[in-house]
Amino acid sequence: MKWSQSMIVTLKEAPSDAEIPSHKLMVRAGMMKKLAPGLHTYGNIALRAIRKFERIIREELDQRGGVEILMPMVHPRELWEETNRWTEMGDGLLKFKNRNEHWFCLGATHEEAVTDYVRHDLKSYRDLPKNIYQIQTKYRDEIRPRFGLMRGREFSMKDAYTFDADQEGALKSYDLMYKAYQAIFDRIGVDYRIVQADAGNIGGSQTHEFQLLAEAGEDALLVSDQGDFAANIEVCPAIDPEPHVSADKEEKTLEKFATPNQKTIADLAKFTGLPERELVKTLFFSANDGTDPKVKDLKPICVLLRGSDEVNPVKLKNVLGLTNPPLMLTDEEVRQVSGASPGSCGPVGLKIPIYVDNGVTGLKNFIVGANEDGFHLKNVNRGRDFTETKLADLRMAREGDKCPVSNGRLKSYRGIEVGHVFYLGKKYSEKMSATFLDKDGKARPFEMGCYGIGVTRTVQACIEQSHDKDGIIWPKAIAPFHVHICALDPKDAAVMGLAETLEKELSARGLDVLVDDRDERPGVKFKDADLLGMPVRVVIGGKGLANNEIELVERRSKNVTKAAPEKAFAEIMKLVESAK
Ligand code: ATP
Ligand code: MG
Repeated sequence: MKWSQSMIVTLKEAPSDAEIPSHKLMVRAGMMKKLAPGLHTYGNIALRAIRKFERIIREELDQRGGVEILMPMVHPRELWEETNRWTEMGDGLLKFKNRNEHWFCLGATHEEAVTDYVRHDLKSYRDLPKNIYQIQTKYRDEIRPRFGLMRGREFSMKDAYTFDADQEGALKSYDLMYKAYQAIFDRIGVDYRIVQADAGNIGGSQTHEFQLLAEAGEDALLVSDQGDFAANIEVCPAIDPEPHVSADKEEKTLEKFATPNQKTIADLAKFTGLPERELVKTLFFSANDGTDPKVKDLKPICVLLRGSDEVNPVKLKNVLGLTNPPLMLTDEEVRQVSGASPGSCGPVGLKIPIYVDNGVTGLKNFIVGANEDGFHLKNVNRGRDFTETKLADLRMAREGDKCPVSNGRLKSYRGIEVGHVFYLGKKYSEKMSATFLDKDGKARPFEMGCYGIGVTRTVQACIEQSHDKDGIIWPKAIAPFHVHICALDPKDAAVMGLAETLEKELSARGLDVLVDDRDERPGVKFKDADLLGMPVRVVIGGKGLANNEIELVERRSKNVTKAAPEKAFAEIMKLVESAK
């Protein structure tokens, strides 16, 4: 492709709303343009990378028995009501009415649609297993779309769904997709980890996320320094590196004491001279996450944690059996429940369920709020002074904690979630009466799995992981063009003649070639070539040709070599072949 015929518009400066390198670079390279928050036009360069990534996905899935289909983007309300996700998905689902006053939503994910697609056609166990996928635009009304294609409202996803006769088969399908994902992410040459994860709104029991490592990643990961344990912090078990046990042997007498103006744990630690980890804080949440219309009241609960720990909303959600993480009570609601403001609350005398984090078990004779403003209780003990509803792992794990499966320690990383695999079981098939006849002629719900890859997010994530101060460094597997030819004197017939010959010959070998034939200064062309980041740059100029040489630059290493024009084709092929 000739630059002069393209729609490539590069910018010197990134817009102020681009916060992370990949977003800045993609905008500067003219790869995406914002239409509205979370909605982007993908420029031709971006689309080329997206299509190449899609091709890799298709190859890996087709070879494992995947069947590609394409489902509608607009779904009727009734379909989503079958699973209660019309309500459960909350405002993330964009809903609207048509001219006949019928409600619809834009597909945020397609479990319902695909289950409907198969439920009358896969009739017998002999029709199973099936692995069905699509690559399609999704719409999620994200609260805060940001980072360009990383968190868009509209984005492209590959979503696959498997249907099996029994759990054993479903887990085999899961394993096959897990391996397909490994193959896909290996092929694009990114540094990623496979981590244990939460099932979120999708539901299901076994699930892994594929996380591309990058500082700008929105996910916190904990990875063991021994063995292959890795988890999203949302679900990572929290285990102290050394068990923490109070020095006290006996339970002492409960005592109330004045703590005027001591509002935070830090205040109280200073006031009492005790470390935060020996104080106990009480947090209040509503166990009504709004997904069950029959539940109207607040359903207040409280959580006890050591002062130095942080509550993990996802663990709490799972312990409470909710669909979404519970909201914290407002100060006013806390007062209604406890009689005091949040800084002076504690479990003693409360009439609501009390959830206690494991970390509290090592403490004896601890301090909590007295449920009276400006007062705390000391020498408080579990069991004697309050009855807990449940003891559980409710806190955030952190770097340095013990690995749950080895003697290793956990190390923190940031990740970008590019893929997610779920074993779903019968969650959707039961609710949607999607059954097949088993060997004995009995109707049974399908065992399902679902599997997503964020196509547009992954392309940007590759750039987040692979760039330098001058621009993008494309991994060859999804590089929009393999070769970027800078024709320095485009009016010089010898220069353009060689550029066009090389373009033709390289294209005939299946390579994608961009020829910068603009009437621009060499410096401008080199800067743009660095910014666009194709693996191999070829510089052809009148002066060089007079010396019978052209220049070849490998983008990743910036290594420069010279070649005679008649050897150019072979040298370029060599460089492209060796590029990563
Ligand atoms: P996240 O936790 O980042 O919101 P998710 O867990 O809701 O993502 P899934 O439902 O697992 O996402 O969707 C499958 C894949 O789609 C994700 O792994 C991710 O790569 C991609 N994806 C999800 N939301 C977005 C978005 N708003 N923009 C771009 N890609 C997305
Ligand atoms: Mg996910």
